[in-house]
Amino acid sequence: MNPYTQVLGAAHVMALDYLDGVCARQVTPTAEALRGLCRFDEALPGAASDPVDTLRLLHAAGSPATMASQGGRYFGLVVGGALPAAVGAEWLATAWDQLAFTDVTSPVAIKLEAVAAGWVLELLGLPPEATVSFVTGTTMGHLTGLAAARAELLRREGYDLPRRGLRDAPPVRIVASAEIHVSALKVLSLLGYGDHEIERVPVDRQGRMIADALPKLDARTIVLAQAGNVNSGSFDPVGAICDAAHAAGAWVHVDGAFGVWAKASPDFDDLTRGLERADSWTTDTHKWLNTPYECGLAICRHPGAVRAVMGAQAAYTSIGGAASPHDIVPEFSRRARGVEVWAALRSLGGDGVRELVERCCRHARRFAVGLQDLGLEVLNEVAINQVVAAAETPQATSALIEAVQRSGECWFGPTHWQGRAALRISVSSWRTTDEDVERSLRAIADARRGLGHYRRTARSA
Ligand SMILES: *Cc1c(COP(=O)(O)O)cnc(C)c1O
Repeated sequence: MNPYTQVLGAAHVMALDYLDGVCARQVTPTAEALRGLCRFDEALPGAASDPVDTLRLLHAAGSPATMASQGGRYFGLVVGGALPAAVGAEWLATAWDQLAFTDVTSPVAIKLEAVAAGWVLELLGLPPEATVSFVTGTTMGHLTGLAAARAELLRREGYDLPRRGLRDAPPVRIVASAEIHVSALKVLSLLGYGDHEIERVPVDRQGRMIADALPKLDARTIVLAQAGNVNSGSFDPVGAICDAAHAAGAWVHVDGAFGVWAKASPDFDDLTRGLERADSWTTDTHKWLNTPYECGLAICRHPGAVRAVMGAQAAYTSIGGAASPHDIVPEFSRRARGVEVWAALRSLGGDGVRELVERCCRHARRFAVGLQDLGLEVLNEVAINQVVAAAETPQATSALIEAVQRSGECWFGPTHWQGRAALRISVSSWRTTDEDVERSLRAIADARRGLGHYRRTARSA
């Protein structure tokens, strides 16, 4: 018998059992479920056992101890669900277990990456000649884009960074928003930049970089802009930043982890205009496109720049093939993650991506109105899918967050915004319905009432 039949049959039943229940159950695992995790505290077994038995334990002790981020009422961090087509495609691709290294090691993985790459560039209005690197997430996208940027700026000045190294290299400056995402700081540190070396540009009350406040730029400067602030969702004026940067020969790298997908809807044209003029972009598909983890894209207008830093050849890897995406990613061995991006895009279509984006933003606006009705102050312009709000005092805000989390009805976390303790809600999942939003608002209202902070306003009366 096929050695996979029983185990995949069991996995299929368990996964459906999980997904059938995940929308209705409480978002956080119960205390009992958390206690059940001790069932994994086993000594490494000496003897082999039935693989189905291993899955049984995984489902019995593991599934209840998940956070129900695959349901519609998880609004923490920036977390999408996983679309049916993407989950199904990932299962099949896992069964294939392809090495997405070249079109010799996996013709199909490389083909689907290429097709998905073309669709992404079309959907986001980015240059068709750009390279699209399928990486684990925006963090690795930063590494790809920023390493390429630095080497390319130096190459233009006649310095061959990959050969001669950093020690004798002329310095390349980093100019970034004061609101730079912590993942970019992590990557800059990996690239050898200390925190204090980063020239911070002030932001306005929405967290947008003030283009007029940019320092004097030159041809040895990388400017890091954001399309979608992780708290407010606001966009830096990327067009104006590109004007200033390109006039000076500088490079513009955009963190568009989730925000870039707003490009798929004409509703956000005013917000996203100019984004297409940057030099490199990084985004996730595991957030707003709702593919499974881990999948992000590094997109670069200058293909040679990425190849110069990510290309790696060894005698044993010269196995032929026309396409070798390992030359444009930090990873070497890689799973076929392009399959899920292809499946998500093919099943949604351009219209589906647009609707997904617009729906999440509509939910976010409804949250903002509902929170105001409960006497909370919404601290951001709800430009896309993010809402930041505060109660009367920092203590009231954190008590509210904790009470809602405890209720298990929905989940969101804390942040600081413009010096104030706040709660942040990110609506990024294809699963979130109008009813999920109303149910979550009811849970927030109940929590407010429980804390003695409920105030009726004209609108909710
Ligand atoms: C999530 C996020 C990142 C980091 O992306 P990963 O996929 O977690 O590596 C970077 N920037 C922003 C704005 C984000 O929301």
